[in-house]
Amino acid sequence: MQDVPLLISRILSHGSALHGTSQVITWTGESEPQRRSFAEIGARAAQLAHALRDDLGVEGDDRVATLMWNNAEHVEAYFAIPSMGAVLHTLNLRLPPEQLAWIVNHAADRVVIANGSLLPLLAPLLPHLTSVEHVVVSGPGDRSLLAGVTPRVHEYEELVAGKPTTYDWPELDERSAAAMCYTSGTTGDPKGVVYSHRSIYLHSMQVNMAQSMGLTDQDTSLVVVPQFHVNAWGLPHATFMTGVNMLMPDRFLQPGPLAAMIEKEQPTHAAAVPTIWQGLLAELGERPRDVGSLTQVTIGGSACPPSLMEAFDKLGMRVCHAWGMTETSPLGTVARPPAHVVGTEQEFEYRLTQGRFPAGVEARLTGPGGERLPWDGESAGELEVRGPWIAGAYYGGEGAQPLRPADKFSEDGWLKTGDVGTITPDGFLTLTDRAKDVIKSGGEWISSVELENALMAHPDVAEAAVVAVPDDKWGERPLATVVLKDGATADFAVLRSFLADEGRIAKWQLPERWTIIESVPKTSVGKFDKKVLRRRYAEGDLD
Ligand code: ADP
Repeated sequence: MQDVPLLISRILSHGSALHGTSQVITWTGESEPQRRSFAEIGARAAQLAHALRDDLGVEGDDRVATLMWNNAEHVEAYFAIPSMGAVLHTLNLRLPPEQLAWIVNHAADRVVIANGSLLPLLAPLLPHLTSVEHVVVSGPGDRSLLAGVTPRVHEYEELVAGKPTTYDWPELDERSAAAMCYTSGTTGDPKGVVYSHRSIYLHSMQVNMAQSMGLTDQDTSLVVVPQFHVNAWGLPHATFMTGVNMLMPDRFLQPGPLAAMIEKEQPTHAAAVPTIWQGLLAELGERPRDVGSLTQVTIGGSACPPSLMEAFDKLGMRVCHAWGMTETSPLGTVARPPAHVVGTEQEFEYRLTQGRFPAGVEARLTGPGGERLPWDGESAGELEVRGPWIAGAYYGGEGAQPLRPADKFSEDGWLKTGDVGTITPDGFLTLTDRAKDVIKSGGEWISSVELENALMAHPDVAEAAVVAVPDDKWGERPLATVVLKDGATADFAVLRSFLADEGRIAKWQLPERWTIIESVPKTSVGKFDKKVLRRRYAEGDLD
């Protein structure tokens, strides 16, 4: 067979030529969104690559960072930078500024392409960025914030204007770096994951399979999941393979604008973490809208509460639950129930699992003593995975060796996910917890996720997060932190007996410690930040 390298430039050329009329639609907050065809994106990506090379001197595997929302220009950068041989480094705009600066310096980014609306975040960072020579600004925002800064400042549109609309993309090694994304550094410094052309290409093909997202050029996908984190779950690449239109929310991520863009642009699919959907659900409850076009919703990033899935089912939106992480590109499992349970009571149970491993992701469970555990749907252990789009190491920094910390990689090279769960004989994963969140009570494990899901099924509960707190007798016990809905009356006794009712939760697992909070603190990617809750408890703030 021919040995044709699997390159991002091939995805771009295919999408812009064969699906040239498909569109990237960016919400602008005005009456009309911005519409750009895949053909235009292809031409502008070529122009951007010329500008980066000829005007800014980008060469070799230089890192070009983006500090951007989901929008057409970000898609152009997604394709231009790797296709020319440089490395796209997406920056998570919700990270604390000092972590962002650390990440930019560690990756030695030479250029930052930023949305104008994010200059208030970028400008104060610039004096601390040691490698950045150029800042390119795109979209509305106050440029005066950049007055007097050291790096040279350019306007995106001025840079690309007049450049050739084709580029002789180089034949790169498919194993070379295409993109990088840092984990959010919940413990220690953030870690850089580097995606290769080959890994992105293969991952995109899996995203497109009918058993995964399975979209076609008749679909429009509302890409809420940020382009700045794990390549927006691979959607920009996957859609260019198949011609799926992308609806991009830019900075308009609040429930109101999201509902408005669904009503106006009628996407058929959407992807985001559960917290976004909880917000949308509340919005639709208060201000009903026509969201009937949206029939498929991919939810991942943290466990989808059963109550959320049921509520979406009622609205005619079919939730598909999926699991993944920065290190897995991210697609790791997708919960499409097997044919023999479709239409039976078991179907819902299967949909609530994290899902089945697709071809390309191998999995195993490891017990506390390092022993392999069976796929019997009961034995719980740490999930380890390997495959062509699973990280084999972290980026060590310029000139440094890749990092393979023993708590993240096994001796034989598998990724230790830090997630604890069970696997059924037919390959469906159920996560019971993150290794660091599981509550170790008297030698037994209590799943914080199970308690949270049970609590969030109570009609008075808006959100609930459960964390382990030290206990003299048991080692650790659960602390339930609860956000009540407006006007709710339930007290702890009511909630506790709700958990105990119908055997929802075993008696010995019921929390003794409860507290009401205003909102659950969230991480930079919208997940419950249990580290903050544990710290607040330790400081006596949650009694
Ligand atoms: P970070 O590691 O920075 O929080 P990631 O996006 O890489 O960001 O997070 C990956 C983790 O998110 C997984 O290891 C897992 O704990 C959690 N996660 C992702 N999807 C799911 C899901 N469907 N159900 C439960 N947990 C999930």
